[in-house]
Amino acid sequence: MTSPTSALPEWARRRTFAIISHPDAGKTTLTENILLSAGAIRLAGQVKARGENRRTQSDWMKIERERGISVSASVMTYEYGGLLFNLLDTPGHEDFSEDTYRTLTAADSAIMVLDAAKGVEPRTLKLVEVCRLRDIPILTFINKMDREAMDPSELLDDIQDKLALDAAPMQWPSGSGTRFKGVADLERDEFVVYRRPSADDADPVRSQRVSLSGNEISSILSTEELAELREGAELAREVCPAFNPQSYREGHMTPVYFGSALRQFGVFELLEALKQVAPGPEAQPATGGPAPELTPDGKEVAGFVFKVQANMDPNHRDRVAFMRLCSGTFKRGMKLKTDSGKLLTVSSPIMFFAQDRELADEAYAGDVIGVPNHGALRVGDTLSESGKWRVAGIPNFAPELLRRARLKDPLKAKHLKKALESLAEEGVTQLFRLQVGGDFVVGAVGALQIDVMAERVAAEYNLEVTFEPSPYETARWITGPRDKLEALIDRHKSAIAEDIDGALVFMAKNAWEVSYTQEKWPDIEFHRAKERR
Ligand code: GDP
Repeated sequence: MTSPTSALPEWARRRTFAIISHPDAGKTTLTENILLSAGAIRLAGQVKARGENRRTQSDWMKIERERGISVSASVMTYEYGGLLFNLLDTPGHEDFSEDTYRTLTAADSAIMVLDAAKGVEPRTLKLVEVCRLRDIPILTFINKMDREAMDPSELLDDIQDKLALDAAPMQWPSGSGTRFKGVADLERDEFVVYRRPSADDADPVRSQRVSLSGNEISSILSTEELAELREGAELAREVCPAFNPQSYREGHMTPVYFGSALRQFGVFELLEALKQVAPGPEAQPATGGPAPELTPDGKEVAGFVFKVQANMDPNHRDRVAFMRLCSGTFKRGMKLKTDSGKLLTVSSPIMFFAQDRELADEAYAGDVIGVPNHGALRVGDTLSESGKWRVAGIPNFAPELLRRARLKDPLKAKHLKKALESLAEEGVTQLFRLQVGGDFVVGAVGALQIDVMAERVAAEYNLEVTFEPSPYETARWITGPRDKLEALIDRHKSAIAEDIDGALVFMAKNAWEVSYTQEKWPDIEFHRAKERR
């Protein structure tokens, strides 16, 4: 039997998504079980093992090893149900949020993992805010149902209240923790039976399903449990909004699934849901070309860099730029140009599979390829055949930490400038230069970014630099009428800086000062995020 998807053009078979969660909610466990369930990897532990392997390679970055965290984000590709899924892996450590945020710009949808006992946590909130910038559709997986959980309706309210997303339950759980029996499928009047996997189970298997109205269910649930489940499910149907695919795709509604990643329960249901509803690549707003957007079925090959990773070998200044393709059929050996006119022959593009990396002979819209280069590519660059396109919407986020770079040997100022600029281009931290005095201030969303910056400035550029507290704590990009901007700059000279692209930035001691200044200057806009032009 031929699958209905086999007739689709290659790009239309792509589903590119990321998993977002607060640390510890179970993102790594879910990633691993998605790959296992899809048959992309065989043994549990592979994701972590690969991470460790990567860590031993990246000797240059002691921080990664010492703190046991993986700084890098990569992509894992698997096939399921005739579609090709690109799972964008985001670093789990909360300090690395900037990297995570940017990775989301390359995703067409997201899975939000919540801990059933905790609901929406602070990092979840921030990440959903970022998804909102592009209205990325979000599918929700409420994890750890095998532990004592919050009441399902409380969890749905939490999503609704804290995230302002309409929560549409697709399932209704029966109990939680030791009383967890499975979930009712609200669309099919079926019950998905939870069975705790035993140690000698092989790869995950699909859970058994029984009819909710037949006799079999009574051997699984007690009369009280069944009555409680029926009542809950009925209430859910009455009170909660029904799933509306359009509203999901517009980023207003999230379908909600329940399960346990650790016990491999609910993962197949999630794979199915992704296959059914997750959007493939869509048109990407862009300028410079003959149309206002790049379409996935377009002829010209074009894509943008959302992440740059320095290579594992400290003796080579090699980098891998992760490029998300937006249109055309990429072929190995192709010549592509950046929007700033640099020409590159992409002779060894890398594709990332769950266990391996391979040279990519062809890639399509939705795919992510790694482009090795010697520093020519930076985050936000658009690569295309004509070099004319410029993709919109790769944001920089207002830093929450600012540190002044102070050099031990002032004669090396030029070196410092180069080092800081180069690392900022890679996206390690942001870089600002104060208009008065010309001091460099590095900005980050998380503290670890500053540590990585300091480590690499020392190791790779051999510079002794201290990163001192700066009088400022936060920054906002400012835009507005020229005369008003000039007046503001005149009034706040010492708080004005330029970022690496020359955009104007207002530095503030705290958030209160930002709002105070904002009130005083109503014609000026203070931006928390800046899109690369
Ligand atoms: P991450 O920080 O979001 O990547 O979270 P991890 O996947 O590393 O999981 C954090 C902890 O929660 C680990 O100890 C996991 O074993 C545990 N965990 C993950 N999923 C489940 C689950 O479904 N049930 C239970 N009981 N524990 C889980």
